[in-house]
Amino acid sequence: MTKQTIHVVGGGLVGPLTAIFLARHGFDVELYERRHDMRKVDISAGKSINLVVTPRGLVALDKVGLQEKIMELAIPLDGRMLHDVKGEETYVPYGHKEGEVINAVSRGLLNQRLLEAADEYENLNIHFQRHCTDYDVNTRTLTFRNEETDTEEKVETEIVIGTDGAFSAIRKTMLENVTNFDYAQSFQKHGYKELVIPASADGSHLIKNGVFHIWPRGNYMLIGIPNLDGSFTCTLFLPYAGEKSFETLKTKDDVDNFFNETFPDATPLMPTLTNDFFDNPTGALATVKCSPWNIGGQAMVLGDAAHAIVPFYGQGMNCGFEDCTALGDLLESGEKDWNVIFTKLGALRKPNTDAIADMAIENFTEMRDTTADPKFQLKKQVGFELENRFPEQFIPRYSMVMFHPEIPFAEARRLSEIQETMLDDLCANINAPDEVDWDKAEKLVKKISG
Ligand SMILES: Cc1cc2nc3c(=O)[nH]c(=O)nc-3n(C[C@H](O)[C@H](O)[C@H](O)COP(=O)(O)OP(=O)(O)OC[C@H]3O[C@@H](n4cnc5c(N)ncnc54)[C@H](O)[C@@H]3O)c2cc1C
Repeated sequence: MTKQTIHVVGGGLVGPLTAIFLARHGFDVELYERRHDMRKVDISAGKSINLVVTPRGLVALDKVGLQEKIMELAIPLDGRMLHDVKGEETYVPYGHKEGEVINAVSRGLLNQRLLEAADEYENLNIHFQRHCTDYDVNTRTLTFRNEETDTEEKVETEIVIGTDGAFSAIRKTMLENVTNFDYAQSFQKHGYKELVIPASADGSHLIKNGVFHIWPRGNYMLIGIPNLDGSFTCTLFLPYAGEKSFETLKTKDDVDNFFNETFPDATPLMPTLTNDFFDNPTGALATVKCSPWNIGGQAMVLGDAAHAIVPFYGQGMNCGFEDCTALGDLLESGEKDWNVIFTKLGALRKPNTDAIADMAIENFTEMRDTTADPKFQLKKQVGFELENRFPEQFIPRYSMVMFHPEIPFAEARRLSEIQETMLDDLCANINAPDEVDWDKAEKLVKKISG
């Protein structure tokens, strides 16, 4: 088995890491990517300029010795800075324990480091400008358009792993060839637009660094994540249609007026706002669920190709990296039959990726509607205090998702639904954490923890 060749299609974030896990287990790996080598050609890394890496992703990076290298690129963020419509700021910490931070990194640099790391393995080859156009499940042949030479190439394979993103060509083949293949794709009614707050003249950040900025406005919101060069990548999440929407922001004046009214403290810091608004594409937010993720022991999809989710928990890539950890663990267990490996991997991961897909949509409502609500902030504080008093029995939902990779997403979801009812009950008639009936809280915590 160790001399088998595995063909991995898609060299974004999950592809190179998957390839590294396989190469470390002794397989020969051929990795194919549609785009140019982004280490040599200046191209957009796609989707978002920066993103957050959290402990679930770090576990996978650590397993292959890459955690430190990636953390060199990171800005730790320890909480949310909420900006109200008058420009007043409120800081809400993410956790209350040492090290409970998320890490902002540049998507492009992260992708480059992963490719660099993959390149170090002698048994791993990377082929750029190879656009996979077909996978014949009967002959196990991959077809690529070689965009360098403008020719077609056919590659015979044994085992294929598709990490070719939300609009995966490998998944399309499954849809067409696997009987009873379940597939659902849904789009949010909101799109997103990337904007920028540049660095100050001396290269420092113009608003507070080390936090995740949110301008929550009910049905829509603006967020800002810091970059190492002193700038912030801001993302506007706005409905496509309706009174305040992409549809109604037609002219530069419309955009200026909307931003000045709605985000008065951010707008003066965005000198290229209107140009960015009209030059940058409006991105779509998709959730993809499918099953099974594999065709027997011959092909499998991982990462967004298997489970694209909306970005409101910052878990899409982290969750894809968890797929890699799970694959690594199965290989480590000594399992040699690819049908068993793929089937077990799908069975292990699917309930968890479904759970984070649903929680990510719910977190959009929390970020845009409720973060500014005093009751939300009270429940956060009471949640932290419950964790202080009953650390074995109560970990708030956000902390379970972000800081506790040992708790699978599906379990985090199950527990958090019970916790929500409990927090609603404890906070119903109070205005501050010191008014909580702690005897009642103890009974409730004991009840939920069995
Ligand atoms: C606005 C936004 C913000 C986000 N923020 C976060 C965040 O903070 N944290 C987080 O964890 N996740 C975040 N995500 C989600 C994250 O971007 C994805 O989950 C992650 O990129 C998935 O990695 P992937 O490798 O599976 O897919 P991709 O990153 O999409 O990579 C797929 C690769 O396959 C290549 N490819 C596609 N088709 C073919 C083909 N036919 N042939 C050859 N190659 C092909 C593509 O060029 C690409 O390089 C965010 C997403 C969005 C939209």
